[in-house]
Amino acid sequence: MSLTGKTAIVTGSNSGIGLGVARELAKAGANVVLNSFTNRDEDHALAAGIAEEFGVEARYIKADMSKGDECRDLIDQAGGCDILVNNAGIQHVAPIDEFPVDKWDAIIAINMNSVFHTTAAALPHMRKRGWGRVVNIASAHGLTASPFKSAYIAAKHGVVGMSKTVALETAQEPITCNAICPGYVLTPLVEAQIPDTMKEYGMDRETVVKEVMLARQPSKEFATVEQLGGTTVFLCSDAAAQITGTTISVDGGWTAL
Ligand code: NAD
Repeated sequence: MSLTGKTAIVTGSNSGIGLGVARELAKAGANVVLNSFTNRDEDHALAAGIAEEFGVEARYIKADMSKGDECRDLIDQAGGCDILVNNAGIQHVAPIDEFPVDKWDAIIAINMNSVFHTTAAALPHMRKRGWGRVVNIASAHGLTASPFKSAYIAAKHGVVGMSKTVALETAQEPITCNAICPGYVLTPLVEAQIPDTMKEYGMDRETVVKEVMLARQPSKEFATVEQLGGTTVFLCSDAAAQITGTTISVDGGWTAL
């Protein structure tokens, strides 16, 4: 699969899944734009590292995905967009009657509203170039629910719905829009939680991973950022040209339960 000459923008990509997706897109030949809300030397160094490793153009652009105008500026600053991966996301866990309003607003803004703004700004670029892929990193929580995650689940269900609408609005153009729904993914953030969870439950690593963290993931294996990147590259391939308006679960069977 060659994505040579394509420009891919991945929101929230200075760590975790976004970085993994950007690396797989670069490996497939795409020029990539990394993003987050910080503007540190290490953010720019990540882009330089990808450029050197994969021989593509890579840039880091600071933009805060909680702000609509910055979402749109990100696309404009990139100067073009063939592949848009909406990945930026945050989480907060609390019962709905105690859910802090500022956390609710931030989750809805970053996890859902940003997808509206970046997609609206990116589609004209895709139409001009006659090809486009929108890949939204939703969640198993875009298809199912858990207690105490009302904002996240509302936002992720919203992203799944928005993906279907964008697919219908672009159905007769060479543009597709889909949502990837990961289960539990082994990111540095998740890895860092393992020692504390082991202590909390008095369990060894294997037991804590299988019985506590992956309680709802039948495979008892984490998904990896490389698998999510590979799924994104597949959605950008010619084989996926008629796949639009749907979800692909990468969840070890979670949503089959
Ligand atoms: P992460 O915390 O490593 O990555 C989140 C990214 O979003 C980071 O790069 C962060 O800097 C960025 N971000 C946060 N706020 C931002 C803002 N205001 N503006 C711009 N960027 C911002 O977490 P992750 O696990 O890699 O999550 C990435 C996406 O995958 C999220 O949308 C998350 O909901 C989704 N997801 C993760 C899992 C999992 O198990 N890790 C499972 C399902 C879905």
